Amino acid sequence: MSSGQAVATERLRNYIGGEWVDASGSGSLPLYNPATAEVIGAVPLSDASDVDRAVQAAAAVYEEWRDTSVFHRARIMFKYKELLEQHKEELARLITKEHGKTLDEARAELVRGIEVVEFATGAPTLLQGRTLEQVGRGVDVEMYRQPLGVCVGITPYNFPGMIPMWMFPLAIVAGNTFVLKPSERTPLTSMRLAELLAEAGLPPGVLNLVHGGRETVEALLAHRDVQAVSFVGSAAVAEIIYRTAAAHGKRVQALAGAKNHMIVLPDADLDFAVEAIVGSAFGSAGQRCMAGSVLVAQDDVADRLLEKLVARSERLRIGPGDEPGVEMGPLIRDEHRERVKSYIEIGQSEGAELIVDGRKASLPDRGFFLGPTIFTGVDPDMRIAREEIFGPVLSTVRVKTIEEGIELINRSQYGNGAVLFTRSGAAARAFRRYAKAGMLGVNIGVPAPVAVFPFAGWRGSFYGDLHANGEDAINFYTERKVVTSRWV
Ligand code: NAD
Repeated sequence: MSSGQAVATERLRNYIGGEWVDASGSGSLPLYNPATAEVIGAVPLSDASDVDRAVQAAAAVYEEWRDTSVFHRARIMFKYKELLEQHKEELARLITKEHGKTLDEARAELVRGIEVVEFATGAPTLLQGRTLEQVGRGVDVEMYRQPLGVCVGITPYNFPGMIPMWMFPLAIVAGNTFVLKPSERTPLTSMRLAELLAEAGLPPGVLNLVHGGRETVEALLAHRDVQAVSFVGSAAVAEIIYRTAAAHGKRVQALAGAKNHMIVLPDADLDFAVEAIVGSAFGSAGQRCMAGSVLVAQDDVADRLLEKLVARSERLRIGPGDEPGVEMGPLIRDEHRERVKSYIEIGQSEGAELIVDGRKASLPDRGFFLGPTIFTGVDPDMRIAREEIFGPVLSTVRVKTIEEGIELINRSQYGNGAVLFTRSGAAARAFRRYAKAGMLGVNIGVPAPVAVFPFAGWRGSFYGDLHANGEDAINFYTERKVVTSRWV
């Protein structure tokens, strides 16, 4: 690792105008290694003056950056991709250290993130407009894409590498400058990502990073020089961000929380489905927006499925994410673990049957660990079937038909993702056509984002119009300009 800030155990610094600088905001939060509960740094809570400095740094170089050749911007992304590949293992270890997920999970999220950088290298094609000759006699029309100005990214803790990379590579390659506000619970990976982009040749000020929480975000949303805001996080905060940013006249996309259903039909390959379900529900300790958290089992398969699922879940190896063979790491913080445990109590008090109790699993004696938990006999109206728990808790609901399963998906306040396990093409088609959610999987546990396709949920899982990634992201980070001309 370079001399950079990413290894610091003291108070972290903001990255503004190409320099690591102390925040003026005096408050800070402890940064933990969730696998050991050790404090590994202090995250400053930047105030409005820090935010202003970062936005001004981004605004100051904007004109110059948007005037660089698109090939030059794309070449920086080529170099960045190369550096990210070279530093992949180091970055994966950093993710595991600050988040707790296993190294394999960290590597996988980096692959997804690096694919966005790869997509960004296509800027000379992606940013092309279009033309139409002779819309009237001697009159032609051209459409250009132009950058917006200073864009902002506000990211959650659960994908410290991938989610920032959904945002700044595409914004920057399109000619925008950027201020990233990473999660105050997992900021180290973002810091290293910023350093590597500078090493790839990005001029100072094009990407800036401010640490902080609510006050920092509020200052960003209100800043007059910010043009667009990309947010990913919980549903309650997403709604606030969407309303506030829009009230300040910003373009905004806010990806929110989830409650994802996994339907299993009797004709599914059960062993395959069980592996995928365990990976989806308990991978990253359930802290994924695409995590399956409601298992919808058709009656004829429910008993066989649960028997296999319980046996597999009880065999899951829980421990620090950097230990070989570990399949599930800790939760992010002790308070979050307490919140997840409170949902286990809620499920019991609602009358669901607890068949695997994560509180009783054999767990490391330090760190914020909790074992996998499975409920059966869950009624769709129970809170454990409706609310996002964001931990390794799976609620099982039985249905008679696939239609009943799809109806459950469609009734949810969320609509992020849903998956189906079956061997029937007709069932898969009905699911694809009628399930109301943004990201579907057929015989896939986690329909993960693919850089060249748009990614977001529906209903309460998303606020905005243009999704992350793919063509949507290009549209989000550019303004279209149409020129009609006649040359006499
Ligand atoms: P969070 O909402 O607590 O925090 C997200 C960001 O918002 C952080 O940078 C945080 O500092 C900031 N923030 C928190 N409270 C704020 C407030 N009151 N005002 C302004 N800013 C505030 O989310 P989290 O706990 O870090 O992440 C987990 C959540 O993110 C889950 O709900 C998960 O489903 C969701 N998520 C969604 C997607 C998706 O693609 N839809 C992807 C990943 C995570």
